[in-house]
Amino acid sequence: MPEGDSLHRAAKRLQVLVGQRVEVETPHPRAAVKGLAERLDGRRLERVEAVGKNLLLRFEGGLVLRSHLRMNGRWRVEPRGAARVGRPWLVLRGAEHEAVLWNGPILELVTQCYLPSLGPDILGEQPDVETMLARLRAEPQEREVGEALLDQRLVAGIGNLWKAEVLWEAHVSPWRRLAEVDDAELQAVLGAAHRLMRTSADGRRPPRHVYRRADRTCPRCGGIVRSAPQGEHARTAYWCPGCQVGGNASPS
Ligand SMILES: [Zn+2]
Repeated sequence: MPEGDSLHRAAKRLQVLVGQRVEVETPHPRAAVKGLAERLDGRRLERVEAVGKNLLLRFEGGLVLRSHLRMNGRWRVEPRGAARVGRPWLVLRGAEHEAVLWNGPILELVTQCYLPSLGPDILGEQPDVETMLARLRAEPQEREVGEALLDQRLVAGIGNLWKAEVLWEAHVSPWRRLAEVDDAELQAVLGAAHRLMRTSADGRRPPRHVYRRADRTCPRCGGIVRSAPQGEHARTAYWCPGCQVGGNASPS
């Protein structure tokens, strides 16, 4: 099954077509009905990137082709005009190479503004911490770290429970502004998120230290765990002011 890493490899192979105007064909009848060739043929391919389990191909004019490979999809890059047997879903033909998509169960054209641009998956085999960090740093730095961690455009996969637990694990208060949290601390937070969430995904439930433990004792420092609504959706943050210091909590 194609996972994030094989999508990253496919994105890398497809770079040979970036910057070129491509001829587009949809030999497979199920792809032909989508009208992709008509809309994309002759446009310049501007960018190819793997995002989560999607491969996103950005064309000039703000058109984005989203390809999700599910179980059987495969992207191949071959010399232009290579012989083949069968009907691929899509062929993108450049001057010297062509990219061929076989078995593309999800293939759709979206315009950039409607794209659900998810951040890298925290549960990925090798999570793309660099990109997560870059996205967190590209945000207004007055955002609170606890609120930013729930923004799926920056990091995909962290919910309210793990937000609370991983910030506790990394000794970082959810109320600190991004500007006040250095890269090493953010990396520690993201590393803890990956580790704890993988453990949980594998069926071993890590102990909870602060989540839904307001007014109880912090198992690390003996402080009293607090809770307060955070962010525009007012989701409840849990933290220990004794060992996660800094920032200003919303009045609860
Ligand atoms: Zn504590």
